[in-house]
Amino acid sequence: MLRYEGTLYRPPSEAESLILQATIGCSYNECTFCAMYRDKRFRVRKLEELRAEIEWVASRAATEVRKVFLADGDALVAKSSFLLELLGLLRAAFPNLQRVSCYASPQALEVRSVAEMSELRRGGLTLYYLGIESGHDEVLGRLVKGVDSARMVEVALKAHAADVKLSTMILLGAGGRSLSLEHARESARVVNAIQPRYVSTLVMTPVEGTPLWEQAERGEVDELTPLELAAELREFIAGLELRGSVFRSNHASNYLSVAGSLPKDKPALVAALDGVLASPERARFRPRGLRGL
Ligand code: SF4
Repeated sequence: MLRYEGTLYRPPSEAESLILQATIGCSYNECTFCAMYRDKRFRVRKLEELRAEIEWVASRAATEVRKVFLADGDALVAKSSFLLELLGLLRAAFPNLQRVSCYASPQALEVRSVAEMSELRRGGLTLYYLGIESGHDEVLGRLVKGVDSARMVEVALKAHAADVKLSTMILLGAGGRSLSLEHARESARVVNAIQPRYVSTLVMTPVEGTPLWEQAERGEVDELTPLELAAELREFIAGLELRGSVFRSNHASNYLSVAGSLPKDKPALVAALDGVLASPERARFRPRGLRGL
């Protein structure tokens, strides 16, 4: 059977995927806003345990598994030889497998070479989820992301060089009130430099047990209003110059759910957000109760 350790997290677009915990926790685990793996000590799981889990699923639903998401926080940091063997097991077990994906921290992208990522991509690992969070260096520093914007672009472009697709996340509200629009513009600049296949936004939310929560308790964090976040999102989308990306703000933390293909839908998305800013009383903000991590 599948043995999950602790709370599982996966991107919204992996709702239909088989989630396999290739690693436990996050090897970096320093980002101030992230509560996902605070309670876990990072380790790579034993291949034999994973083999048994894959065989168990294959004995029940071998032809139904089309997508696999490798949890937890940054499975890409595990040794390339381990990941290659794991991908081989997945391909052998699931004849209709179309893609394998994982979160990739900037730290994991730093340690994996382009040659390794290419080999893993040929083995089926074709999509990474990368939390850029911000393109603003001061904001990245406050979040303790561990890299500045220039390094973020460099490591992301390694994935591109290996022909791996990127799905990137930006954290709305991360610059607080004073840096809100600068954070939006700088984030657009970095996303433009990376040209990811998918771009999405989340809203920064202090979660108990994180340094961000403690900062919020001390009154050091501005939580932006839905309208301020809409203005930030508008600035971000207006700054995007993408050649072929899908944009979504469908994560549960967003107050507004908007989506489109860029560059085609950019004018419509900006106009829709201008409409929200001009007539906020007519906007359909999601109630807080429906927002989660
Ligand atoms: S790298 Fe990702 S999973 Fe790890 S602490 Fe930062 S946000 Fe959380």
